[in-house]
Amino acid sequence: MNNLNMYLGGRIFNSASLSDEEINFLMNIGCKRKPGIVAGKCQRCLMTIDMKNIKSKSNYCRSCINLGKVSENDELIITPSNVPFAPVNDALEWNGTLTVMQQKASEELIKANSNHKDHLVWAVTGAGKTEMIFPLINQVISKSERVAICSPRIDVCIELHPRIQKAFPNISLGLFHGRSESPYSFTQVVLATVHQLIKFERAFDVLIIDEVDSYPLAGSEMLHKAIEKSVKENGQTVYLSATPPKELLKKVDSKDITISKLYQRFHGHPLPVPKCHMLFKSSDYKKINPRLRWKIKELINNNERFMLFFPKIPQMMEFSNNLRIIFPDLKFVDVSSRDEECLDKVSKFRSGEVQAILTTTILERGVTFKHITVIVIDADAAEFSKTSLIQIAGRAGRDKTYHDDDVYFYYQSYNRQIKQSCSEIKYLNRWIKE
Ligand SMILES: [Zn+2]
Repeated sequence: MNNLNMYLGGRIFNSASLSDEEINFLMNIGCKRKPGIVAGKCQRCLMTIDMKNIKSKSNYCRSCINLGKVSENDELIITPSNVPFAPVNDALEWNGTLTVMQQKASEELIKANSNHKDHLVWAVTGAGKTEMIFPLINQVISKSERVAICSPRIDVCIELHPRIQKAFPNISLGLFHGRSESPYSFTQVVLATVHQLIKFERAFDVLIIDEVDSYPLAGSEMLHKAIEKSVKENGQTVYLSATPPKELLKKVDSKDITISKLYQRFHGHPLPVPKCHMLFKSSDYKKINPRLRWKIKELINNNERFMLFFPKIPQMMEFSNNLRIIFPDLKFVDVSSRDEECLDKVSKFRSGEVQAILTTTILERGVTFKHITVIVIDADAAEFSKTSLIQIAGRAGRDKTYHDDDVYFYYQSYNRQIKQSCSEIKYLNRWIKE
């Protein structure tokens, strides 16, 4: 039997993937076992199996097939999660200071933890959510408990990893996501995509879900079940969001969960309010609409860095080609979800090697650049929701010195999502006393 840490911590294994020796060993250390499917429900992801479309001899779960097949003849083995960690006082080695608002939210989080109450932190983009959860993580560690920090997005997990590691250098930390090459091991702090939670049962004392409103978590029944299932019965779930979904705000109203509101960016300045511009012709009129062309030319002349957001990849690629023809000297990159060089291109923009970046909603959140102008092309397109427009606008003005970066929305019809996103930004800014 090799390393025990590969198994421990409320992990769900399909016995078919284990040797007899491993199964015997796991049963001896107190693992539980149960059938893979009970009453038409997969016991790993808790989704109901659609019996109508089953043609093969044995039923299996299609919902979580990406993590390996669970069929009715399989047995699941759940490893113990009540393994204590050595208590560590003052594990936090972060020298920064929280603003008054951050401090308040941070204390409310700790209080909710002591009361075993789920909690929502509604923090505007750029409020400094990560630093705010450090004291909570510190408290969890001091109680010898285990915490998972999860996001629906891999890029957010990757970005968080070095920051958590630096803040808690002496605590075991694991980073797990679908593209990760390092195998699972039992750590006190877990950083993972929400998808990875399907493989856990009653594993965490505290579960922190970042970007709770973002794809693919928003609207996924399976991922919401995974969150519920992976936290311990007496555990706490913490939600972080700049644009919280209605269902969570309803739970706040009914006092099922508590809330902290952080309407202030860490530097104390308001969110940039988008400048709205109606185009009378389409954005690709005369290859690039003259009004857009004029704005881009102005940015190039002023040597200002800018991000251009597009609703669809083909449209972005066409714009990219035209931009290359019209402004041959402009150095820029274009990134989309289909792009394998995405991280590399983003770092070229961050380092200033290129002046502009063209992107889809893939960069609507989780990325921070210093001093940029943000432009949304066809802000009225169906691909941009109110939430994504707020997130995109939130890419601007994140640095204290350049807190008033410009944001532009270009569109042909001033529709609901544009109106709502602008009014929500203005509403949040009203709470800031400068
Ligand atoms: Zn399943």
